Amino acid sequence: MNKRYDIIVIGGGPIGAITARYAAEGGVRVLLVERKDRGGESENCTGLVSPRALAVLGASQRSLLRQITGGYLHSPSGIEISIAAPETKALVLNRHILTCELIDRAAAAGVDIRIHTEASRYEGGIIELTTQNGITDKVQASLIIGADGPRSAVARWFSLPSPPKMLVAAQAIIDRTPRREDFVEILFGKDIAPGFFAWAVPAEAGRMRVGLAAPAGISAQNLLDRLLQDRRFSGTLVAKTNGLIPIGTVDRTCTTGALLVGDAAGQTKPTSGGGLYFGGLCARIAGEVGAQAVLSGDLSFAALRSYERRWRKEIGVDHKFGMVAHHTLARLSDDDIDRIFTVINRPAVKDLIEQEGDIDYPRHLAKAFLQRPALWLQLAALISPLGSWERILTGK
Ligand SMILES: Cc1cc2nc3c(=O)[nH]c(=O)nc-3n(C[C@H](O)[C@H](O)[C@H](O)COP(=O)(O)OP(=O)(O)OC[C@H]3O[C@@H](n4cnc5c(N)ncnc54)[C@H](O)[C@@H]3O)c2cc1C
Repeated sequence: MNKRYDIIVIGGGPIGAITARYAAEGGVRVLLVERKDRGGESENCTGLVSPRALAVLGASQRSLLRQITGGYLHSPSGIEISIAAPETKALVLNRHILTCELIDRAAAAGVDIRIHTEASRYEGGIIELTTQNGITDKVQASLIIGADGPRSAVARWFSLPSPPKMLVAAQAIIDRTPRREDFVEILFGKDIAPGFFAWAVPAEAGRMRVGLAAPAGISAQNLLDRLLQDRRFSGTLVAKTNGLIPIGTVDRTCTTGALLVGDAAGQTKPTSGGGLYFGGLCARIAGEVGAQAVLSGDLSFAALRSYERRWRKEIGVDHKFGMVAHHTLARLSDDDIDRIFTVINRPAVKDLIEQEGDIDYPRHLAKAFLQRPALWLQLAALISPLGSWERILTGK
């Protein structure tokens, strides 16, 4: 007889752990399955989040490595702008410690956890689990939640779509003391990271995470190797990783008996590729709606659609703004980016960014810009590099 749960969450990353916890707290029996060790695929992540994200994730400060107050921005031709905010704008976390803490919280809420176990097959409502030693087992549940990352098996099993665009990211951990312990460095340019950007983030003491993302078809690894030869970002190599960053949410994130959350649903910020904050917001909704659906005995698409409605209400507008910003950046030439840098470098504009910049909600900065008529002239200077207003607003 197969063991039966109310909900099985596939993927013990941060988003799966949060989803499972909320579902268990909603009063149902939950199994969380992770093919890797406790902590999942943590090595891929830079761990940069806003200060508000910790509360959304339900995490303590245990994983906190750094507090970031600003950054050096580098244009393609070498213009450097330093943005120094009056308060902490971001945190750097140890992703492994973070995920382990979230898994512990899920376990404390009553979630059964199986690590080193892959959900390898799904047929007729039954999931086959395969351990690292090749031992198989079968489990059943009323609801399957796919928190299994950008290449979601749950999405395939239930004929749900994949995120429309994937960036390939490559990251190195190097031994090197950052230029400033509380500053990140962001680099733009088609020779650095076409269509996106590269980063250098202070991590553990004397260590930095240097990485970039680029569209599929361009070797992010080669670009990273080149960046690591730059004397500003070179150091003793500790580790290199790569991973996918979904850009764009999937059109349908639920169907009868299943739903997708986190990277599997494309719930990342299109401006930065960060998935912890939006994913954390959506994970709570997934866990709550999942538990309610099980308790009501209605696992139909119609019942689960409240998940889709709720998460789109929570992040939809900001996600759409992020998509427009993402497509706009992808379209800019190096000269355009240089011109934008000259505008950002004007004291009034820089001041506004330092005051209002928010890595989760770049839309708020745009709004603050529009609320200051004195800055409209500077905005006009952005039009030629960004294109017509219509292009900016539609992202086309
Ligand atoms: C290089 C890089 C840097 C990043 N930096 C940041 C950052 O600074 N800030 C930020 O917010 N986001 C960042 N992200 C994005 C962030 O890592 C993801 O958005 C986040 O991890 C999403 O969590 P998740 O739980 O949905 O998916 P994942 O973290 O991918 O977790 C999915 C889990 O499912 C497991 N799994 C998959 N298939 C199966 C299966 N069949 N059976 C069992 N287990 C399975 C995997 O092993 C994995 O542990 C970065 C991503 C990359 C690639």
